[in-house]
Amino acid sequence: MSNQHTIAEKVSCTGVGLHSGTPVQLTLQPARAGTGIVFVRTDLATPVEIPARPEYVTDTRLATTLGRGDATVGTIEHLLAALRGLGIDNVRVEIDGPEVPVMDGSAASFVFLVRVAGIFEQGAPRRTLRVRKPVEVRDGDRWARLEPGRGLRVSYAVDFDHPAIGKQALRGLELTPESFEAELCRARTFGFLRDVQALWKMGLGKGGSLDNAVLLDDQEVMNREGLRWPDEFVRHKALDLVGDLSLLGVELEGHVRVHKGGHALHQALVAEVLREAGGREPRRERSRSGLGELVPAPIA
Ligand SMILES: [Zn+2]
Repeated sequence: MSNQHTIAEKVSCTGVGLHSGTPVQLTLQPARAGTGIVFVRTDLATPVEIPARPEYVTDTRLATTLGRGDATVGTIEHLLAALRGLGIDNVRVEIDGPEVPVMDGSAASFVFLVRVAGIFEQGAPRRTLRVRKPVEVRDGDRWARLEPGRGLRVSYAVDFDHPAIGKQALRGLELTPESFEAELCRARTFGFLRDVQALWKMGLGKGGSLDNAVLLDDQEVMNREGLRWPDEFVRHKALDLVGDLSLLGVELEGHVRVHKGGHALHQALVAEVLREAGGREPRRERSRSGLGELVPAPIA
């Protein structure tokens, strides 16, 4: 069994939110074992702590958003993917705005931040969640499934009716810090030109540009530098999945397979895994900071 990890020292970066378009400063602080990942909105009159836990997810339409009372933090999934990908269990994420900065649209900048800070092993074992039988959620022809297995493996398939994407599949990638850095962390978020105007009408996507997203017109990729991999799209989906699954707050063991997924389906799988794992609703505990804390029953 492996131990929990945090970062060795505080580290910061600045960027803009993909949807809000406003500049944000993000600071990662080391945190005690058992804390988990906790976001803190430091710009509010009274700072609000929002644990990265499934019961704080308030929106999954364009990105995964956490909320507590009136305070929200959006587009958390790429940062969470980087933390989970590198095996970081406990971090306090201070942020002075409502959205994690998009950086280059991938998790690479957050991986860089963690590498700069350094990784610190803590004297407490990491909790592992291992399923004994498959858990599945479906929405029409889209589905997500967790099957028993050692370690964490990810398979993902997308099927977009677009000449530059089409069918792409990632098969059985074993998730380790090394494979995350080499195969997933640089895959960028993507969007279609035809959707951009609709987003603008909704007041979203204001920070989006060819510097932080792959943009497609009806025929091809519009970014001059092209793609980082021919199948960058499915790799980004798998990156999103790693971030979304990290809300479980435990090390997941098994083979996760997703077909045509998105944030909503990922969170549906998280909820179903917790339900199956506990055989009952997740129980809440009072932590020392007074925060509600989700504690999934361990299953061996
Ligand atoms: Zn994403």
